[in-house]
Amino acid sequence: MTLRDAPTEADVLVVGAGLAGLRAARDLAEQGHRVVVLEARDRVGGRGFTAPLGGRLAELGGSWFTPEHREVRAELARYGLAVRDYPPLAHARWFTGGELRQGFPVPFAELAAFEAILSRVLGDAAAHAAGDTSIGAPSAAAYIDAFNPPPATRDFLVGWWQLMGGAPPERGAIADVLGSIAGHGGLSGLVTCLAHGPADGWSALAKALAASPGVAVRLDQRVVAIDVDDAGVTCHVEDGALRARAGVIAVPLNCLPHISITPALPERVREAAGANAGAAVKVVLLARGVEQHGIAVGHAPDLHLRWWYADDEVNGCTRLTGFGWRDQRFDPASRAHVEAVLAMVFPEAELVDWAFHDWNADPDARGTWLTAPAADIDRVAATRFAPTGRIAFAGSDVAHEEAGWFEGALRSGAEAARYLGRSILGAAISTAPVGTHS
Ligand SMILES: Cc1cc2nc3c(=O)[nH]c(=O)nc-3n(C[C@H](O)[C@H](O)[C@H](O)COP(=O)(O)OP(=O)(O)OC[C@H]3O[C@@H](n4cnc5c(N)ncnc54)[C@H](O)[C@@H]3O)c2cc1C
Repeated sequence: MTLRDAPTEADVLVVGAGLAGLRAARDLAEQGHRVVVLEARDRVGGRGFTAPLGGRLAELGGSWFTPEHREVRAELARYGLAVRDYPPLAHARWFTGGELRQGFPVPFAELAAFEAILSRVLGDAAAHAAGDTSIGAPSAAAYIDAFNPPPATRDFLVGWWQLMGGAPPERGAIADVLGSIAGHGGLSGLVTCLAHGPADGWSALAKALAASPGVAVRLDQRVVAIDVDDAGVTCHVEDGALRARAGVIAVPLNCLPHISITPALPERVREAAGANAGAAVKVVLLARGVEQHGIAVGHAPDLHLRWWYADDEVNGCTRLTGFGWRDQRFDPASRAHVEAVLAMVFPEAELVDWAFHDWNADPDARGTWLTAPAADIDRVAATRFAPTGRIAFAGSDVAHEEAGWFEGALRSGAEAARYLGRSILGAAISTAPVGTHS
């Protein structure tokens, strides 16, 4: 169906069918409003994207949720979707100081320095959580270099940054990682918080939300312009326009500069648009010969995937996930590149298959999870995204709580729906559905 054929009467237009936009749409429909969601891609779910690999499902976008993520758990329960609990880790290995190690992450000669630095990181995390904003501003690289760490300890710290830091250490502010360390009980908390996932994948949750009564999702509709006036909001797509009384902008922060909005958004929002430094690379692999349920972490010039999770068994293989940052020297589509990096951390492995999605080149993502830009963390402060009249913002990139996570996406969508319902739309004028999920 093209937009010209679609019903044009809607109370609210939601731009973007990730979890944030879909949650806002579902909640607004429950208030009795007629909602149309305009989605650029041919699928819902955005940066949550479950795809087949070796006859099972692989998460090419986000994977985990933490024990604190109550909205995710509630939404999965609501739609009868099972939770998968990840088992405790059974082994760990490290690539530090140019060597693959088991046991301690650094050589004995570095242990005292290693311990002292981790203790200072814990102190900084506590101070950051207590509100000392200066500690989190530097880039991860500057933060690590200031310790003057010995070589293997430095590699450990860069690898550990990769666990949560979605940007290369020169570009991402250390703030997010310090926040996660404080919030999850120490450095090990960055791994142990990755405790749960949806058993049937994040795409299943997105599809369940999109099928809500009163919500009409229009796929393949990239919004190029939005006009706001005293009476309503008009969204322009390639082959037409839709009008409604209010709008929710639920696109990734780095997509916002590519929508022409009239009148211009407030300066606080314009300054933030495009500022997500997150530029991670995630590759899901099936390999023979690797022990399940472990991690590998480290750093080296050619180690393009620095943090690895060895998951469960699939058809006689171990399912592995490796994370890196966008780097011209590493092409995740190249078997030779993937085999070379796998061999550095799992020399016993035989690569069978792998999958990835290039979120950085994708025009409907333009990056990965929210990572504050170094020396400029205020640029992505959630306070910038307070609603402006008939427009509310939603998305994990703009969330007040749990920003960067699916949980933040859901919470922000709920918040946007509450604001529009309370302040703009008032009591519902009709409960008639506007169409079906296409
Ligand atoms: C590799 C990777 C790993 C991650 N790991 C985790 C994890 O383990 N746990 C976790 O909680 N989170 C993780 N995340 C983050 C999580 O995926 C996101 O926080 C969440 O999916 C964001 O939801 P959203 O609705 O805010 O945005 P999105 O899911 O990005 O949805 C935005 C939607 O807007 C659409 N859109 C963009 N431009 C337009 C336009 N002009 N017109 C119409 N539609 C448009 C997009 O196509 C998209 O569907 C990860 C992300 C990535 C990329």
